[in-house]
Amino acid sequence: MKPLIIGLTGGIGSGKTTVANAFAAKGIQQVDADLVARQVVAPGSPALQQIVAHFGADILQSDGALNRAALRQRIFSQPAEKDWLNALLHPIIRQQMQAELATATSSYVLFVAPLLLENQLQSYIDRLLVVDVTEQNQIARTLLRDGGSEQEVAAIMAAQVSRQQRLAAADDVIDNNAGPEQLAAQVDALHQRYLKLAAKHS
Ligand code: ATP
Repeated sequence: MKPLIIGLTGGIGSGKTTVANAFAAKGIQQVDADLVARQVVAPGSPALQQIVAHFGADILQSDGALNRAALRQRIFSQPAEKDWLNALLHPIIRQQMQAELATATSSYVLFVAPLLLENQLQSYIDRLLVVDVTEQNQIARTLLRDGGSEQEVAAIMAAQVSRQQRLAAADDVIDNNAGPEQLAAQVDALHQRYLKLAAKHS
């Protein structure tokens, strides 16, 4: 039986990883869209072999892993190359995400996807959980974690859907503007709710 799938998204620095870890501590499995996208081009993978056959061996780092910066540069101003890469990778990534979601064994499963809305992955999920923080908190927490400049964070935020768009798409919202206790209480309440929904899910 296919498990109940809860999509988890939020903007940069909103607290997705923190929230996912809190659910994981309750035994809830997760599929991480970014991780899957990296795994399908791991050394030895068929997709990486095809990328090397297409772009040449200098698309690899000396350790045999994909040189992502070099690849980005190659496709940046060449739409045909970008289309080729997307046509290769998107079906493989989607198939892998679906396979992992379908075989999860916890009561329900989290699908953690920072760009869930941007990449239109709603058809993968039964319900959308959004981690919401103010833009000020997003910027402050990202700078505290990663360093860099406010302009860099603002540029990433500008490339993502807006806070309003995310909230409009949400079935459930975690307000992560306050501290860890308030976050834990919200995760507890949602976990109880999802367990009930999972029991009814078929
Ligand atoms: P990204 O999309 O950039 O990977 P994310 O949404 O996964 O980010 P986290 O890494 O979970 O976000 O959180 C961003 C930063 O904010 C981290 O350093 C985290 O420890 C911190 N943080 C998360 N929740 C809170 C909170 N309630 N109060 C203060 N800091 C928090």
